Amino acid sequence: MIDTTRVGIKAPPPPSKWDIIPIHTSDRATFKFCRRQWIWSSPTRFNLVPKTSIHGVRMPLWFGTGIHHALERYYHPYLREDPVEVFQAWFHLQWNGGLIHRSELKEFADRNPTPHPSIEDTFVVRGLSDILPDPDYEVFEEHLDLGIGMLKFYKEYAEEHDNFSVIEVEHDFSVPLLDPNGAPVYMVDNRPMPENWCPASGGNEYGPFVLAETTITDPATDKRVTVYKKQLHARGRMDVIVQDLESGRFGIRDYKTAARIDDDYFRHLDLDEQCTTYLWAGEQEAKLYGLEYSQLDYVDYIALRKNYPKPPTMLNSGLPSIDRQKESTTAAMFEKAIKDNGLQMVFDDSEKLQNYYTYLVQMGDKLFIQFDPVRRNRHQKANCGVRLYYEAVDMLSNPVPYPNPNKNIGCLNCVFRPPCVAAESGSDFQAMLDDGYESNYDR
Ligand code: SF4
Repeated sequence: MIDTTRVGIKAPPPPSKWDIIPIHTSDRATFKFCRRQWIWSSPTRFNLVPKTSIHGVRMPLWFGTGIHHALERYYHPYLREDPVEVFQAWFHLQWNGGLIHRSELKEFADRNPTPHPSIEDTFVVRGLSDILPDPDYEVFEEHLDLGIGMLKFYKEYAEEHDNFSVIEVEHDFSVPLLDPNGAPVYMVDNRPMPENWCPASGGNEYGPFVLAETTITDPATDKRVTVYKKQLHARGRMDVIVQDLESGRFGIRDYKTAARIDDDYFRHLDLDEQCTTYLWAGEQEAKLYGLEYSQLDYVDYIALRKNYPKPPTMLNSGLPSIDRQKESTTAAMFEKAIKDNGLQMVFDDSEKLQNYYTYLVQMGDKLFIQFDPVRRNRHQKANCGVRLYYEAVDMLSNPVPYPNPNKNIGCLNCVFRPPCVAAESGSDFQAMLDDGYESNYDR
């Protein structure tokens, strides 16, 4: 069963990104992977994202966002919306454009959101059909069907298997970084501030967000300039926090969409930094705001296969396909196809067909949804907090932004590959950045 009736203390909205210095979870990975990718994308530096009108959308990321959005609404205690209907509405808004609430800006940061002239907290966004350089509706329509199929299956699965209380839905967190002695960390904020920004008076139990105004000599101009020291915060977006109704333990459910789920899929989890960070940050958040839990024990890392149950493909030979990588059928559907096509005698004689059927029976729902519980003890969480501190200090110590060209998929698919290649060959990479990228609205 799923219990969505708990109404407890919730963490308040994160402070303005200008009142603290944000260190995003994704930023840390980028910093360690490639300094050039980091300096172009980090909110503490250039904060650039590719313009959709020029670079299009990254389909896996885009699709995953839609699935997350649907599940967030499904588990939201006040909404409890049908995930299929939410996904369809999200898709049409993405494709056609329309009105969004301020809280949805993160998902539409690359759609030129403009404040609505008369409706408060509402923005107008353009649709992909209007923005994309070469919109191919068929590809998007395939993903619409895929999302509907996956979420129909997920809903049935969840109704049968969910056994938790929802404590907090997917939300943005922002918690102070602490040094190894447990003291808050303040550093000089070198970002150019918006014209109307003035130092915040807010703070938390560790102190004010903005510590002091001070003057330093700008090495570029040799002039004295006013700067502010601000609290460093770890920031990110956390999936739903739950309490397991059987064990009473608190944890996080983290959803991933995956083209393929094999034995290697969960291999990285013993040291997965995102899981460890979320458990560390969730506990910090609970301590800061007196939430109902003090300890987060686990992350249920849930992989949703990008496929859904379909009858088996019938081959020209008249037999059903038994390709384990390509097919997405179930034992019941396979059995029906054997019967409907008069293949019972062939099946009884075929070891291959029987083995495949046994495989389908043994796999069951795991063909479409698998999860691995990730546990972290207090040492692992404490080490993560210390690691975060050192990484943040490195990031804010003016590191040299040299590139790290390599054969890894993160470099091959890097959103900055064209200007990076231009920079290496002495071409005008700055013009490419100016024309093809824009400031990330929401970071
Ligand atoms: S293409 Fe590779 S080397 Fe260049 S910025 Fe991206 S990750 Fe770094």
